[in-house]
Amino acid sequence: MTKLHSHQHDHDAGHAHDHNHNHCIDTALATAETLCIEQGQRLTKVRRRALELIWESHRPLGAYQLLAKLAEEGFNSAPPTVYRALDFLLAAGLIHKVESMNAYLGCAHADRAHKGYFLICDECHNVMEFDYQDIHAALIAKAAKQGFELRAETIELTGLCADCKAKATDAAAVGTSA
Ligand SMILES: [Zn+2]
Ligand SMILES: [Zn+2]
Ligand SMILES: [Zn+2]
Repeated sequence: MTKLHSHQHDHDAGHAHDHNHNHCIDTALATAETLCIEQGQRLTKVRRRALELIWESHRPLGAYQLLAKLAEEGFNSAPPTVYRALDFLLAAGLIHKVESMNAYLGCAHADRAHKGYFLICDECHNVMEFDYQDIHAALIAKAAKQGFELRAETIELTGLCADCKAKATDAAAVGTSA
């Protein structure tokens, strides 16, 4: 079992291995503040705390997990409040929904418009954004060829992340050398 709060195991978006996750959180919050000012929106306390909680790790957080955490902290955690906060964060591009996990992931590239494609690790359940926007153009072109207007696309790839792969390799090496 992986420990939920082990930051050593988390991944920077696009970069595996140990990293200072506080840096991810600080950057995400700073970006959120800037974007909200630019868009004339308010990063209310509940929106900000929801974003922070989603950013606690690189594992997507479900709405009910978020609701429970906010309730613990004394926020108005009525489902409509929490869903409104999530809708705001989604619309602002600060988080993505990972459909197959029915959970939310903080976006590390919120300052540029993009589609979220995801690499989901079967082992540690960390999710990284798969930065491959060419796929988006290719999909639109292919769909258009068939007379289809694309409105939503969900690309979620599952497998083993670099950290888990390295651990599996290490374990195998220890196993053979012992
Ligand atoms: Zn991180
Ligand atoms: Zn993103
Ligand atoms: Zn992993």
